[in-house]
Formats: sequence, structure tokens, C-alpha cells
Amino acid sequence: MNIFMVSSEAYPFSKTGGLGDIAGSLPLEISSINTTNTMNTRKASNINASLIIPLYKQNYKLINKKDILTTLEIEHGKNIVKVDIARIKHPNNDNINVYFIKEDNLFKRNGIYSENGIDYNDNASRFILFSKAAVKLIIYLYEKENLEVDIVHIHDWQTALIALYIKEVFNEEEALRKLKVIFTIHNLAYQGNFPVDIYGLLNISWKFFVHSRLEFYGNVSFIKAGIILSDIVTTVSPSYAKEIQGEEFGCGLNNLLSDVSSKLYGILNGGHDEEWDPKTDKYIKNNYDINTVSKKKIIRNSLYKEFGFINKSCPLVTMISRFDPQKGLDLIYQSFFEIATYNANFIFLFSKNNYFKDFEEDFIDRANRAKNIKVLFTFDESLAHRLTAGSDMYLMPSRFEPCGLNQIYSMKYGSIPIVHAVGGLKDTVINYNGAKTINKATGFVFNEYCIKSFVQTMDLAFDLYYNKKDIWNKLVANAMSKDYSLHRCALEYTKLYKKLLSDK
Ligand code: ADP
Repeated sequence: MNIFMVSSEAYPFSKTGGLGDIAGSLPLEISSINTTNTMNTRKASNINASLIIPLYKQNYKLINKKDILTTLEIEHGKNIVKVDIARIKHPNNDNINVYFIKEDNLFKRNGIYSENGIDYNDNASRFILFSKAAVKLIIYLYEKENLEVDIVHIHDWQTALIALYIKEVFNEEEALRKLKVIFTIHNLAYQGNFPVDIYGLLNISWKFFVHSRLEFYGNVSFIKAGIILSDIVTTVSPSYAKEIQGEEFGCGLNNLLSDVSSKLYGILNGGHDEEWDPKTDKYIKNNYDINTVSKKKIIRNSLYKEFGFINKSCPLVTMISRFDPQKGLDLIYQSFFEIATYNANFIFLFSKNNYFKDFEEDFIDRANRAKNIKVLFTFDESLAHRLTAGSDMYLMPSRFEPCGLNQIYSMKYGSIPIVHAVGGLKDTVINYNGAKTINKATGFVFNEYCIKSFVQTMDLAFDLYYNKKDIWNKLVANAMSKDYSLHRCALEYTKLYKKLLSDK
């Protein structure tokens, strides 16, 4: 089975969030699964996975002249754009081919979607070209190398148009006739809606600018192409799959998503089994497991030294995320007064977002008034790992959360998550609710999105931490034993791939 994963980001080549984690590690994980093996063990896989991603500035060092497979000429609006295709073996598995779409003007930049927190104003053009190039590459490989792709797995709005090009624009192409498309929505809030003046760049007939295809309140919606035309649509947790069919979280697409519910699946994301494992994590010096969890304190102490906290004998609470209202920043901001009173230190690591510049300044200003709070605005993979390993609790009060990976990582690292009962957070964290839940609870889950519930839940967590150490330690052990692995997630995707091919 030949599967091509197409994404705008994929770790370790590029990453801004959970999409990068999953699109990057899924090809590795599915190539270790044999779909004919009913025991689902990791033996001789019959899946050939490949990855197509843009070549960003930081990736140029990975390719040489000899890696350029071909140059494709792509019609892009009124121009013909020459796009180089570079092919390398994946550094972690040489059975996997990584195809880079190389177009210096559009992709050789400092950022992936934005720079200094401001989106590039030609993102529509960039990902239209990327999508066309990916489809043309599949046709090229069929014609020149006899490679028949069975399934294309596309992710989020940046690649959603691929469904349209495959199913309705270039559908007469021999290479694409039997091709199945699976589309994964990592976050419905990002839809790729652009003013109609970009339509010319699509190089398609105006017949597609109708409500049943790309038109969305007078704009062009890339995500609609993925939802309507893919054979299967998935999203990243079972709860989010239900939530997006309702008005509150449907972002205007709830009716469409209900209409396609028979092909809509919720597959819970998984944490990368080796990258995010306290036993093997390359970013921490003192690796540990469930039996040596006391080593977390050494990591915590070195963080306390590094960040210059005055109180060094209290628990550490962390949060690592994009600086986006989605992540429950208003709850954090409004509870700074209470946070400052806890006998604990807090470190917040945020990726910058210029849309909320004023709020960011206010946020920093308030945080700086407390001696036990540090806020950093940078994207730092290494620090993210160290904070997860060194912390005792993890905050994720998201307003909505398709899946969320950080609560999964934090549980694995024995850092107890405090989360809002929504989307993937609800599906992964088991709430501590007194003695009856002691054998399964892995964290704290509050139902109502308000300061009162959030603070009460933090109070409960600190009470347990300080006064009921046995229960706390049991929660840590429960959390660290949970299996939210990528392997389980990959098995579910391979079931869908198999289903798609048997439906042929
Ligand atoms: P989302 O995709 O909505 O951003 P997820 O929880 O699914 O949220 O995934 C976030 C990923 O991005 C995690 O791997 C997290 O550690 C990482 N991340 C987010 N912000 C930062 C940051 N400022 N520095 C380093 N890593 C970050």
C-alpha cells in the first residue's frame, strides 16, 4: 500500500504545533505496521509511506543538487512557475521518501506561515502552488517511475485543495483515477478562507465557486474542498468530531460536517513514542521512568536556578502553547491574582502571535508583578521538553481543543494536567473525583469555562499535592501508565486506509 502524506509542516523538518508533530511522525509509525498481521505487531510492514512538504529555509542544508528529482512547470494564475522537487531518504527511516517542494520565492523564508507574529500576505498563493505541485508530483511519479499511489493523506486547509485537484480537476489523469483521499482536520478554526480575488491563482473553472464546493459567505474556502471531496474526513479526537457538528464549535461549517458525518471519524492523536518519553528524551540529562520519578526534582531544580526563582522548594506548574485565545489565556490572565498566592512557581512558554500584541503586553505586565511567575515568548523545542519533565502540574484550560498533545506529554512525564472538559482534553484526561476514582484518575478536569471552576480545580490540585501525597503519587503513576501512544493512533489510521482500499 503506497500512502503519500502531504502537509505544510512535519517534524523534524518543520513545526509550529500539533500538526507538525503528527504529520511528521505518522509516516514513521505507519511504516512499522503490517496491515495483514492481525496481531498488529511491528513486523515487516506492507505500507510504503512517503511525505510531501515545502522546502523551508531551515531545510536547505538537508538537500544537495543530486537530490533534485525533477523540475515541474506549474500553471499559477497567469504565470508558469518552475518548481524543483527534491527527494531524500527520511533521516530516521530510509524506507521513507521525503519529497520537498522547492520554490525559493514562496518558501525560502524565516517563518512557515508568518514572521514576527504576522501572517504572510501571500499564504493563499503559497499553499495553492504547493497543493498543485503535490498533485503534479504524484502524476510524475506514476508516469516516470511507475509508482502507483493508493492513498493521499492531506492535512488542514493548506493541503485541502488537493482533494479538488485530484477528484474534479485532474481526475482524467490515469495516475489519479483510483486514488483515494483522506483529509484530517487538526483545527477547524483555521479554514483557509480568502477573498475571491485569489480565485485566478487556482486555475480552475468558475463552476467550482458554488456553495457545494468552494464558496463560503462570498469567500473561497480551501477547507471545504477537503471536507466535501475527500473519501474520508478525520479529526483528531472522538469528542471534537462530535463537537464540530454543533454550532458552538462548528465554526460555521457544522451543518456541512453533519451532512458528511457518515465519512467523518475522530481519531485521537498520539504522542511520539520515542521523542516524547522521559526515559529516552534527548533534551533532558536526567532521564527517568515511573520507578525513578523522583529525578524530576533534579530537572525542576535546574529550571529554578536557570529562571532565578526565589522559592526553590515548591512545585512547578507549566504551560506550553501558542499565544492564542483558544488556549484559555483569558482564564490564566484573570486568575493571576490567585496564581500569585499559591506556594508554587509557574512558567509559561508561548509562541508569539502579533494579532494579540496588546493583550501580550498586558499579560506580561500582570505576570511580572508576581515573583512566582515567568513568561517567555519564543518557540523552543528543547525548553518545552525540559519544562514538561521538570513540572509537577500542567495547565491546559483551552476554550476548545481538537486534541491537544501537551496534556498527553505531561501525563507521560508525570506532570498532572489541569484541563477544561472539551475535545481531546475530555478524551484523554481522567478526572480525579474523590476516592472512587483513585485507581484511574490521571488529572483534573473542570466542566464550566469560568474563573471560578478553574481556580477551584487548581485549589483542589494543590490541596492534594501538599496534604494527600499518597493520592498525588497514585495520580502520577496512573498518568504515566496511560497509553496515548502514536502507535495506537497509527493503527486506527491504517484501519481506515484498509477500509478505503477495500471500498475500491
Ligand atoms: P496546537 O496544535 O493547537 O498548537 P497541540 O497541543 O496539538 O496544540 O500541539 C502543540 C505542539 O507545539 C506541542 O508539541 C507543543 O510542545 C509545541 N509548542 C507549542 N508552543 C510551543 C513553544 N512556544 N515552544 C516550543 N514548543 C511549543
